Amino acid sequence: MRPSFSRDRSEISALERTIARGGSFFLLGHENPDGDCLGSMAGLYNLLSGRGKDVTMAVYEEIPRQFQLAADSMEEEPGLYSGAADLSSFDAVIALDCSDRKRLGPASGAVADLDPEETALINIDHHEDNTHFGGINLVVEEAAATGEIIFDLARNWNWTIPLNSARPLALAMLADTGFFRYSNTDRDVMKKVMELMDIGVDIYQINRDLYGRKDPRILKLTGRALSSLELAAEGKIAYMVLRNEDYTRTGTGPQDREGIVNYARDVEDVEAGLLFSEEDSGVKVSFRSNSYLSVNSIAAEFGGGGHPRAAGCRLEMEIEEAVEKVLAEVKKNV
Ligand code: 5GP
Ligand code: MN
Repeated sequence: MRPSFSRDRSEISALERTIARGGSFFLLGHENPDGDCLGSMAGLYNLLSGRGKDVTMAVYEEIPRQFQLAADSMEEEPGLYSGAADLSSFDAVIALDCSDRKRLGPASGAVADLDPEETALINIDHHEDNTHFGGINLVVEEAAATGEIIFDLARNWNWTIPLNSARPLALAMLADTGFFRYSNTDRDVMKKVMELMDIGVDIYQINRDLYGRKDPRILKLTGRALSSLELAAEGKIAYMVLRNEDYTRTGTGPQDREGIVNYARDVEDVEAGLLFSEEDSGVKVSFRSNSYLSVNSIAAEFGGGGHPRAAGCRLEMEIEEAVEKVLAEVKKNV
């Protein structure tokens, strides 16, 4: 159990009461959902459904195929939420893996309109820059993944974790630790995955799902990103650029850039790896670092955020200008 579980005792009791009293729950995650986001949602969905609750889970876009196992573990595929439907008929809305309300994308407006007397807003997350936008906020920075917090809650309340919840929770922890390769990997998260294996989770299958279902179009997109690779600051920064044309020529979209930034981070002697991606009217920047640079602080200067070693932001400007501005800031700090 994480130390913060004793620190957050009052939030956990409030959460327990809200879940015990509530009958209907609406689960939401962030835009461009990753394995932790979808795994936490599906894991919690099956835990709550298994306890007789009426649960609805929604996403904003098609689920990337490497995370399809999250949806497959549920009886029904999650619906698409455009932001139009009113959420006040639910007893609680639960936001998972979202550091601020904006991350809820199309749902952020409907969530802001909730009347706390009618619908509780529950925020469960592990980002250190979480803005505590909920009525109940369980933010456990020490957790490697939001899925770990869901696991801890289930254990704390002596809830049995069924296999259909264990699978997506393992996906959440394995995805956010890069299969135990990232710096957030520790004994706690490894032990939790071992317990999930005892329940029957096949982690080899998750490995194949995460890394062995490559879409050839995404490989071509990756190739284009790799061809754009440039070094700066005497090799301490590596960056890549994806333009609209790269997406259209390969038949892909911005949702397919997940993971590509890691190639820049993994260049020898590089501290900061960046990916600039043209999206709609602006530019999405992904930041990764290896050992000392807190990229979340740099992303925050541009209105974004994230973790010390993985962060992001969106800029409303031309891509050339975004590259120049962000590089200048990273150079100052690297
Ligand atoms: P990615 O580069 O994979 O899109 O995002 C890496 C991490 O940065 C995410 O896990 C998330 O914590 C954070 N992040 C990405 N984009 C944004 C953003 O626009 N705003 C905030 N606050 N965080 C972001
Ligand atoms: Mn996460």
